[in-house]
Amino acid sequence: MSQQKENHLYVQVVLPLALPGTFTYHVADELQQVVSVGQRVVVQFGKQKIYSALVWNITDVEVPSFTTKPIISIIDELPVITSAQMELWKWMADYYLCTIGEVMAAALPSALKLQSETKIQLHPDFKTDQVLADEREYIITEALQEKKQLSIAEVSRLLLLKQVMPVVKSLLGRNVIEIAEEMVEKYKPRYAAFVKLSNKANDEDFMREAMESMERRSPKQLDLLLFFMRMKQDEETELVSRTLLLKRSKLSAAVLQGLVKKEILEIVEIQTDRLSQTSFDEAIDPLPLNDAQEQCKKEISGSFLKEKVVLLHGVTSSGKTEIYIHLLKEAIDRGQQAVYLVPEIALTSQVITRLRKHFGNKLLVYHSRFSDNERVETWNKVLSHIPGSTDGQLIVGARSAIFLPVSNAGLIIVDEEHDNSYKQTDPSPRYHARDTAVWLGSTMKAPVLLGSATPSLESYYNALAGKYILTSLNSRYGEMIMPEVTLVDVKDAYKRKQMHSHFSGKLIEMMKQSLQNGEQVILFQNRRGFAPVLECRNCSWVPHCINCDVSLTLHKQKQEIRCHYCGYSTTPPSSCNACGSTDLRMKGFGTEKIEEELQLLMPGYRISRLDHDTARSKKSFHQIISDFDNGDIDVLVGTQMVTKGLDFKNVSLVGILNADQLLNYPDFRSHERAFQLMEQVSGRAGRKKVSGKVVIQTYNTKNIVLRYVMEHDFRGFYNHELIERSKFNYPPYFRLIECSIKHRDEAEAERAARLFAKELSEVFGKRVLGPTQPNVARIRNLYIRQILIKLERKLSVMEVKKKLQKAIDFYRKEPANRNVILNIDVDPY
Ligand code: ADP
Ligand code: ZN
Ligand code: ZN
Repeated sequence: MSQQKENHLYVQVVLPLALPGTFTYHVADELQQVVSVGQRVVVQFGKQKIYSALVWNITDVEVPSFTTKPIISIIDELPVITSAQMELWKWMADYYLCTIGEVMAAALPSALKLQSETKIQLHPDFKTDQVLADEREYIITEALQEKKQLSIAEVSRLLLLKQVMPVVKSLLGRNVIEIAEEMVEKYKPRYAAFVKLSNKANDEDFMREAMESMERRSPKQLDLLLFFMRMKQDEETELVSRTLLLKRSKLSAAVLQGLVKKEILEIVEIQTDRLSQTSFDEAIDPLPLNDAQEQCKKEISGSFLKEKVVLLHGVTSSGKTEIYIHLLKEAIDRGQQAVYLVPEIALTSQVITRLRKHFGNKLLVYHSRFSDNERVETWNKVLSHIPGSTDGQLIVGARSAIFLPVSNAGLIIVDEEHDNSYKQTDPSPRYHARDTAVWLGSTMKAPVLLGSATPSLESYYNALAGKYILTSLNSRYGEMIMPEVTLVDVKDAYKRKQMHSHFSGKLIEMMKQSLQNGEQVILFQNRRGFAPVLECRNCSWVPHCINCDVSLTLHKQKQEIRCHYCGYSTTPPSSCNACGSTDLRMKGFGTEKIEEELQLLMPGYRISRLDHDTARSKKSFHQIISDFDNGDIDVLVGTQMVTKGLDFKNVSLVGILNADQLLNYPDFRSHERAFQLMEQVSGRAGRKKVSGKVVIQTYNTKNIVLRYVMEHDFRGFYNHELIERSKFNYPPYFRLIECSIKHRDEAEAERAARLFAKELSEVFGKRVLGPTQPNVARIRNLYIRQILIKLERKLSVMEVKKKLQKAIDFYRKEPANRNVILNIDVDPY
């Protein structure tokens, strides 16, 4: 017996949990031939629970000194991640001071990390008379018909433990069942009607006769047909939107129906974001670049040869996306894979439609709104790519797409690289997808391109320092000039009685001008809701959240005051809780109020709102965007949602209602953010045919940041801001690590924070600041203290991390700290 033990094979596995290190299991004889690194195996962990764990390492020499459990079964025939990925996970755990299990949890779609608690349910396509593989599958589906949802643990009570995961995996793969995701907002496909020529219409004789007869008997049908042909030609497409056709031709649906009856035209319903999959025209070639773009692309390719990261700074509408399309095509034509990262929000809109035109269904979209099954499908396509094959070549996705198992990367693009949605703030790993992309590129020897109209200060600094190569596009594509910016002094306007509530006379006048010209307007206010504060005029009492240290925002339509941190809401008070006075006033304003006031100021115009509230309810984000695009909305009021990667043809005016709120936010990045936001939102004005204007309302027209925005002076702003950052030891000159300590009891939070700060000071000395109370010192009933560590750039990152990890381990070992939350955020945003 003891001899046999020496023949055992051991595996170290990772569990998708916040536990440090790997866990050792032994492999039974019959599995020894098939187990390999990167595969998932089922293991028991603790007394009750089973998990699918990832094999990290296999050893047959070192016999552990403790008794091990066996792995229960092997789920995958082949590894689900690549060795490059494992390197990435390791780096991420070290750099962001988290466990590999946490990285695993962030990286894998749910269906790839099944565990006892994972809930499954029947797939919507499941039919009760479906033929299944075996008895076990019948047992599971029958149980699901009865109970709707089952956890894996419950399933394992129905079957033998050993068999559960493989059966579940097989059922998932065949769309018999799906992972139940209560939290995830389900992605709803949108359908739209399109008009196309029928097959019959290809017959010239048929068409000639039909047209001759229409000329005599139904001239309106002929008009519509010709109009259709022209639109089809103009837009270089086989499919013309039914709505647009009728609207632009000003002809009726009955006329169109006549043409359908004659079998000349057909109407098809198509899922709009899957357009090209059903459209029959072949993907079209990228548009030819102009000289500036061509030059820029040459510089980029040249820098790639030198294995340098490129930062493309191109003003809004300069044609960056067009260059990306060329580079993406080159990479996949070489038989390699390409990853194109965009901010999450941009994915629901125009970018995809644009890429689909060129890449058809080669394009894989990886997106949190897709179901887990769809995400696993994409994962597997990317994983099964072999060099030279056309499978899994091109991915567009938000930050988590950086985890896809790419093995043959020929290009990684990070578009809008300054965007803070690339940073995951919670939960751990608190990684930055741009920085991860740069790391990945250098280890995988893949070219990395960062693009933005308003680069982050970090990237710009890296370019100045020679770490990246900077390439610029300084003018807009075509003859378009940069939008003209006007500042309005709100204080002065009030004095002269030129303010109509939150709108200056100047802004109203310019809005009227644009609207009368048939152009559109965007109004930007980076605050949702009606009014952020309700205050008693008598004693200054303000309603606060019961769970957080913040005031509640009034949402008028819903008749509630709500916390934007925890979601708590209640009905607005009619009188003061402190003194009983009924004289409550609203302070400040959000998008909802702007929308309401505008309805009164500009009657007869169609006004809509785009923010988290509207995008979630009533109409979808996608719907509002396409309505605005089609001209069904005249004025769009929005938060920063309107700034991200949208391209509208007919917007001539952008109004920024309250620049001060952006500029005065208490954070060292507030000026950088304000500059980026204002520049980005201004960039929505005057694309394509109309020229653009921007009005910025402010109490402080002398603010230096506004001056730079007026001149669109990027270099000026960056150089100014760099000096500020260097004066106060902030990034990019220093690296920051932010430690947050949280507890339900304030004294406990304070005690633990002091203890940890003291420990850190022993290692890092004066580089440790705090503990301090953050601006919002209590969220969801947890009191928060923060410690900031400022580190010189010349210090070795990994050395620092090692010392810090030691301090963290020491802190966590102390029993008194066990219930105190400690979050570490490396490079906080
Ligand atoms: P950016 O990504 O810098 O904002 P885009 O690539 O979206 O700029 O280009 C702005 C507009 O100019 C788009 O409508 C795009 O279709 C058009 N455009 C850019 N480059 C070309 C080109 N080479 N040929 C034709 N149109 C172009
Ligand atoms: Zn009061
Ligand atoms: Zn709250």
